[in-house]
Amino acid sequence: MRNTKHKLFYDKTLKSLHNDFDICGIVRNHFIALCMRYFRRYGKGLSYAKMSAHLTKLKKLEKYKHWNIPYSWALQNVLKRLAQSFREMKTLGRGHPHFKSCKKHKGMTFRGGQVKFEYLLPKQKNERNHPTYRIRLNGRWYRFALHRPIEGKIIQVQVTRDALGDVYITLTEACNEVRPEPKTGQAEGFDMGIKDFLTGSDGERYTSPMFYKQNANKLAKAQKVHSRKVKGSNNRERERKNVARIHKKTENQRTDHHWKLAIDLCQKFDILFFEDLNLRGMKALFGKQVSDLAFGAFMRKLKHQSNKRNRFVFTIGRWTPTTKCCCVCNHKNDNLTLEDREWTCRKCDTHLDRDQNAAMNILKEGVASFGLGVVRPIVLLGKIVGYSVEASSSLLKSTIAFA
Ligand SMILES: [Zn+2]
Repeated sequence: MRNTKHKLFYDKTLKSLHNDFDICGIVRNHFIALCMRYFRRYGKGLSYAKMSAHLTKLKKLEKYKHWNIPYSWALQNVLKRLAQSFREMKTLGRGHPHFKSCKKHKGMTFRGGQVKFEYLLPKQKNERNHPTYRIRLNGRWYRFALHRPIEGKIIQVQVTRDALGDVYITLTEACNEVRPEPKTGQAEGFDMGIKDFLTGSDGERYTSPMFYKQNANKLAKAQKVHSRKVKGSNNRERERKNVARIHKKTENQRTDHHWKLAIDLCQKFDILFFEDLNLRGMKALFGKQVSDLAFGAFMRKLKHQSNKRNRFVFTIGRWTPTTKCCCVCNHKNDNLTLEDREWTCRKCDTHLDRDQNAAMNILKEGVASFGLGVVRPIVLLGKIVGYSVEASSSLLKSTIAFA
């Protein structure tokens, strides 16, 4: 499976696609109301089959004639997802799906077989960077630049829009996307932190540029201007888009940085060890900073890249003590506070860096718990200068050292 996302050009036809999105949102709200009534009476939501049959009946009525306009499979997909949320409400104890303004409905799904592609010959003399293609969705053509060539059979096309009104298509192809990297024989533990995004067990620090913080002033200004406009006015709509644009810029910068870092790490190391973090607890403690770093999103991207490049990413349990224990002699320092960035072990006199010590502990624990071997830090003049590995698995080379 391979997903590629492309942006549709601003054409007049885009308006009808937005119209389809709105109708999907209306149908969703209609069926939430229906399911909630059913749920109150019988203690369960309607099944997909029942909802689908009801939709077919409604479509024939004069009042709901316009529901025939969007692609029917997309509407059925909305119902399928609703049925699942109502099922999970019982089994997983989740809350019920909420009503949403139809303007905020964001996704539509098309089957790959129902979609046609065509190459458009460039009209201008100077060609664009990427070939222009057009895609036929629900009877209309939409143009886009194909920045990644299609390699396999297209199974599904997901059409999404964002708060700015931009529409994107995500093409899902049935192809095996593997680009193996040459083996390096290196393993590394990583400690995640607020001050430094990642700290490797070799002492290398990967800081995050903190994009939200960078754009915070601009955002505050835009939000102030937005809140002063009259509700429902064109001016307010324009300022709403301005705020959305800043949010989108932040998100794009962050994802770009994450992908680059993930690829960089996958090229350097064969096996990567991380700690399973309690992100919700961290968010309560440190607030916005944690959301700005977006550890969870980074881990998802890293796992995708490691699968693609034949690397291994392991996470160790969150209850393993990593910060307070000395990585050389396992002496536990209970007096360590959050302010102590560096400390000296009382038992073995090693001068330790807080984050590097944690990363080394994560590496030790990871290598041991996944049965790969034993790691021992090498100490020279009271400082960690490297580590040696007794490998019991062919994944790791027998000795690794830095310094
Ligand atoms: Zn020690």
